Amino acid sequence: MSETVPSRFLFLANQPCLDFVNTEMVVQGWRVDTLGDFGDLLSWLVQAGLLSSDEAETARGRWAGRREAQKVLKQALALRAALREMAERLAMGKPVPPATVEAINEVLRHGVGFPEVVPTRRGFAREVRPESVNPMQLLVPVAEAAATLLCEGDLSLVRRCDNDRCILVFLDTTKSHTRRWCSMSACGNRSKVAAHQRRQRDRSGG
Ligand SMILES: [Zn+2]
Repeated sequence: MSETVPSRFLFLANQPCLDFVNTEMVVQGWRVDTLGDFGDLLSWLVQAGLLSSDEAETARGRWAGRREAQKVLKQALALRAALREMAERLAMGKPVPPATVEAINEVLRHGVGFPEVVPTRRGFAREVRPESVNPMQLLVPVAEAAATLLCEGDLSLVRRCDNDRCILVFLDTTKSHTRRWCSMSACGNRSKVAAHQRRQRDRSGG
């Protein structure tokens, strides 16, 4: 069963496309989807740094409540499902499913834009300015992040949290490559406490 709660996004995956997968999580035993509507999607994109607040406002004004918004949300959830499939398989040492590559390419196809030189604090930077005529464009940065992971990342470092009941995924960027938990506070400590209680029980012969 899944339900929608007001946006409570997690950014602990060290990779935007895996953070996107983590918009679905388990809270107190319930699978929770934080992407309930188009507005949630825009909020996530802004918090992830993949969309400016101005761009989000423009998108909201243009598409919220319309069929385009429904379509882009549907595509977002399909992309997320494909990315979850990929992350979970990689975490088990299995290859990337071809369907995930297809789903990424499907979104990348909507990437239309033009390069632009923009002033920065230290000089200038080259940026691709999207032409926001198509709301599918909103998902392109997520697909781009997935493309970066596939083309440049170390896929053997994609992990799923060691807590069986947790579905969060992440890229292990620790030097020793020994990260096991989504976060120490959420799952790491709980597991330590459980192990401690088990030991106590065993010791008392219970
Ligand atoms: Zn966890």
